[in-house]
Amino acid sequence: MTLLAASVKRASLTLTSRSIVRSFTNVMQQPITSRAMHIQSIPMWEGTGNNYAYLVTDDKSKEAVIIDPANPPEVLPVLNEKTESGAIKLTKIINTHHHHDHAGGNVEILKRFDLPIVGGKDCSKVTTTPEHKSQFTIGDSIKVTALHTPCHTQDSICYFFEDGAERVVFTGDTLFIGGCGRFFEGNAKEMHKALNETLASLPDDTKVYPGHEYTKGNVRFAKKVLNNDAIKKLDEYSQANKETQGKFTIGDEKQHNVFMRVNDKNIHDLVGETEPVQVMKALREMKDRS
Ligand SMILES: [Zn+2]
Repeated sequence: MTLLAASVKRASLTLTSRSIVRSFTNVMQQPITSRAMHIQSIPMWEGTGNNYAYLVTDDKSKEAVIIDPANPPEVLPVLNEKTESGAIKLTKIINTHHHHDHAGGNVEILKRFDLPIVGGKDCSKVTTTPEHKSQFTIGDSIKVTALHTPCHTQDSICYFFEDGAERVVFTGDTLFIGGCGRFFEGNAKEMHKALNETLASLPDDTKVYPGHEYTKGNVRFAKKVLNNDAIKKLDEYSQANKETQGKFTIGDEKQHNVFMRVNDKNIHDLVGETEPVQVMKALREMKDRS
């Protein structure tokens, strides 16, 4: 029996399960890497826009941020209940981009909560626009890195959150599960960089939290472009589950998201292009027409 196994066995005889975890950590002589980040999805405009706001809380300090609280009638009841009960200390609004269905709730939220707004330069009432790759913390445990991903809008920012045990990214309308946003203010070169350089360079186990539940429609399009096991799996999951946010990772997107497979030979054959930016352009045009 190893020293570690012996210690755990000894601990299990006398201690509660919570103490065992602590004892285990002491034995390992490693920092505690327990999950500290709690994410609550708040669906908005269900059945039409199918947006998500996200309340992210550092479990230890209770410090919390609200991401894209665009529809206050659906978000404020949650924020009121959580702040009044002492479950959270709300410290920031974070916006992924300036569109009304993401940043359009800021003015109403500010009437109830006096908060700084971190977001792109064109977001309503924004107080801070973080530099690309700049970082800030939420409570003691969550480190946030801002990633500029201009294309859908020029002020689009994705936010990579890490708590030591877990990694997630809030992608607004840049990356969806199985898809990407329209190129309203940008071009294929920018979306290629956003998806296949900036977001693709995050750890593969990073969970994706997009701004909308668009997965079913994205899979319908993906199946017209490519047939692989990952797309079949995503199809099955989205048929069986209404919500897909946080269930797939950057690694999964590299398999099932056709906009992140611009080097796939089968897609090249379909669109008649091989250069990644031209493939991205062709795919987006096909999706817009579909
Ligand atoms: Zn948008």
